[in-house]
Amino acid sequence: SYDEFYVKSVIRSLQDWPEPGVVFRDITPIFKDPKAMRMVSDAFIQRYVDSDITHIACIDARGFLFGSIMAYQLNLPLVLVRKKGKLPGETIHQEYELEYGTSAVEMQSDALQAGDRVLLFDDLIATGGTLLAACTLINKLGAEVIEAAALIDLPDLQGSTRIQELGIPVYSLLAYE
Ligand code: IMP
Repeated sequence: SYDEFYVKSVIRSLQDWPEPGVVFRDITPIFKDPKAMRMVSDAFIQRYVDSDITHIACIDARGFLFGSIMAYQLNLPLVLVRKKGKLPGETIHQEYELEYGTSAVEMQSDALQAGDRVLLFDDLIATGGTLLAACTLINKLGAEVIEAAALIDLPDLQGSTRIQELGIPVYSLLAYE
């Protein structure tokens, strides 16, 4: 069964990466630890197994790793939200603010359509900018985000609050103050 203490013990915190003053939560050890990976995946599956979502959307790149497990286990279609310039064919993109400069995410125009009910996945919520940009794309395609989910939330950065204020439910397994 899910053991938050165990999962937290597997996540690694790196001081001053990628720049001074930042504490980076490194989840790559979760992928190396089948027990932790199974716990996390099973917790998400349990949450969504009886929901009426029609699609899983996941964000480049660590969001893909959880998204594909969810899509397989829930037997749902998986759609990708990628960094700009990676997807072939007709696409739409959305820019968002970073601390320094901007970034952009992109989806294929035929990834979703009106009426689709989407569970959106990423690994971590910081300022919420990435997930919000992804929500904008999903909405532009006519679909609805039923929930934005992540393994980790950093509540001090207010990202999950920003998303919830727009009426989009947010779920995370773990929080780091
Ligand atoms: P946001 O857009 O500010 O919410 O940042 C979230 C995005 O940046 C996610 O796609 C994360 O993968 C990445 N990110 C930001 N901080 C961390 C961290 O401490 N650990 C892992 N990923 C992070």
